[in-house]
Amino acid sequence: MSEDCIFCAIVDGDIPGRIVRETETTLAFLDANPLAPGHTLVIPKDHHARLDDLPDDVAADIFRDVHELVSRVEDAVDADATTVGINDGEAAGQEVPHVHAHIVPRFDGDGGHP
Ligand code: 5GP
Ligand code: ZN
Repeated sequence: MSEDCIFCAIVDGDIPGRIVRETETTLAFLDANPLAPGHTLVIPKDHHARLDDLPDDVAADIFRDVHELVSRVEDAVDADATTVGINDGEAAGQEVPHVHAHIVPRFDGDGGHP
């Protein structure tokens, strides 16, 4: 837990999150400002700011969740494809300094990249 971290607060239940999946080490929940319906974030439950800070096993757990959730989310919102991404560091667009993978459902003709 890192004080003032919004994602740690979701893990702790201090602020609400629309939880999609929870494991011992990870949490997946809907993005509050979705780029598309079903936009989901996968995070480690422990606070780690950057990918390089993640223990190997937790990094593997996150990718396992992304792998399992892509088809589930696509089915849930009837998407045609998915963009998976991680903004790792401020200059890359990371606004919340707690590692998170984006799962963004894509639709035929939605144009461009998020
Ligand atoms: P970043 O730009 O750091 O890669 O992405 C941060 C993401 O977190 C954004 O897509 C933003 O909408 C989402 N986000 C920020 N605050 C909250 C929040 O309090 N709850 C949820 N569910 N998502 C949030
Ligand atoms: Zn945190």
